[in-house]
Amino acid sequence: MHEVPIVRDIVNTLQEQHPDKFDRITKVQVQAGLLCNVQPILIQNAFEALIRDEPQLAHIDLEVVLLPIIAYCESCEQQFEVIRHKFVCGCGTPSRKIVQGEELRISKVEFLT
Ligand SMILES: [Zn+2]
Repeated sequence: MHEVPIVRDIVNTLQEQHPDKFDRITKVQVQAGLLCNVQPILIQNAFEALIRDEPQLAHIDLEVVLLPIIAYCESCEQQFEVIRHKFVCGCGTPSRKIVQGEELRISKVEFLT
């Protein structure tokens, strides 16, 4: 269960970035690359558990969006999507140059106006 520290971290970041408006946050969108190995449902469950401990967070609606893994092929000089952990470009060249898929970041914050 590495989801608990992740949601704790998200809440801490929000508190740091929006100290004045934290109480007015309605919705938070988090983007998670597939290489992070997080499951949206487990993140949601961890967040709900956190809300049970800290009901003052109940105004926040957390959404997790998974990002596909994108790698870069040096022979085509193009990006390609890595499906089922197959790090091979359509041209047959293997590549481990990851462009997207390792990030875990807050991508959108909505506030009550
Ligand atoms: Zn290629």
